[in-house]
Amino acid sequence: MIKPILQYPDPILLTPSKPLEKTDSIDTINVLLTDLYDTANSIECVGLAAPQIGINLQVFYIKKGFLRKNSDIFIINPIIINESREHSIIQEGCQSLDEVYIKERPTNINVKYYTDFYDIRASFKPFNITLTGFPARVFLHEFDHLQGVLINGQ
Ligand SMILES: [Zn+2]
Repeated sequence: MIKPILQYPDPILLTPSKPLEKTDSIDTINVLLTDLYDTANSIECVGLAAPQIGINLQVFYIKKGFLRKNSDIFIINPIIINESREHSIIQEGCQSLDEVYIKERPTNINVKYYTDFYDIRASFKPFNITLTGFPARVFLHEFDHLQGVLINGQ
């Protein structure tokens, strides 16, 4: 279902999200993933994080071509393992903010994440990948949403 996108300063956007747990209901998670997908694909955006549709759980969605070349992806329970000292400075926008902001971010990151709730329930290992350039920036923007952090510094 397409959900309204919360706008700053909604407190849900500024609240750190909880990781998905093995004990979470599959039905609840499926609804969240579907809502995130439907909402992101109803607008022009690169990705969308669960808090932006009102859910403080550690999930975000990135459209095809921005993180993976040939498919879209859900990122669940992401962890930043390492980030480069080298940074880049680029203007970013956000669906939850009216204005764009100049944002400095690491150029390369090494991250872990799940992409399927089934993996968490079955205790499979998360993916571990290194991202460079724009995909790293996209990942970090959405990751910040899960920490309750927005590009306006709030
Ligand atoms: Zn955003």
